[in-house]
Amino acid sequence: MPELPEVETIRRDLEPLVLGATIVGVEIYWPGSIARPSAPEFEDLITGRTILHLGRRGKYLIFALSGGWNLIVHLAMTGRLLLNQVERDKHTRAVFHLEDGHNLLFVNMRKFGRLYLVKDAQEVVGRLGPEPLEAEFTPQRLAHLLANRRGALKPLLLNQRFLAGLGNIYADEALFVAGLHPQRRADTLSPEEVGRLCGAIRLVLKEGLKDGGTTLEAYRRPNEEKGRHQERLQVFQRTGGPCPRCGATIERIVLAGRGTYFCPRCQR
Ligand SMILES: [Zn+2]
Repeated sequence: MPELPEVETIRRDLEPLVLGATIVGVEIYWPGSIARPSAPEFEDLITGRTILHLGRRGKYLIFALSGGWNLIVHLAMTGRLLLNQVERDKHTRAVFHLEDGHNLLFVNMRKFGRLYLVKDAQEVVGRLGPEPLEAEFTPQRLAHLLANRRGALKPLLLNQRFLAGLGNIYADEALFVAGLHPQRRADTLSPEEVGRLCGAIRLVLKEGLKDGGTTLEAYRRPNEEKGRHQERLQVFQRTGGPCPRCGATIERIVLAGRGTYFCPRCQR
């Protein structure tokens, strides 16, 4: 969290507001946020650069800057990018001052979020798996990815090198929609099941995006608004409640260290 729908919502919200803006200064309140280069170099190199494009790869935001540099933002668990809110609060790790007077705040309560300033974005995002909302993510592609994978489905879906953008919430929701048990061995899916999983992943991500993301705790849009998709989650954090499809009781197990929610009757 935030996952693909939340990061893409932030991208869509910010893009029209920051395109063409020049970064006239940056204040770094917690240098540990800067993954590379060093914080002083980061400050030097980014000042005076104009934002030319705002892209996304998996859960990373990529600001293409003038001079061939890229500012890459990974929000991790609790990161927010807020535009022109309060000057600074205690969890603000960096503030970018834009020429038009806006401030872009990188707020991160827990300190896992990271900022990268690199020439080649591939250095940071080059090893990510395919983008599930792109046209090339087809059942055929997914079948190829799943072949020879002996592990359980859920941890595989969380592996960013396998597929980019899914996290704990949308992985559980996708497996529910597909009718597949989170512990199902990945290489045992029939072609029909692979087709269902492919469609389910795309569906839950699109629905999340339509609702502006899921806010359970930290996630906020750049104007501090919450997402709305938490109201429409079918199994995630619904332990003890009825399955929306069959009425059986939703269960929770821990799989690869993550709370995992599923219907024991519908998911095989
Ligand atoms: Zn069910």
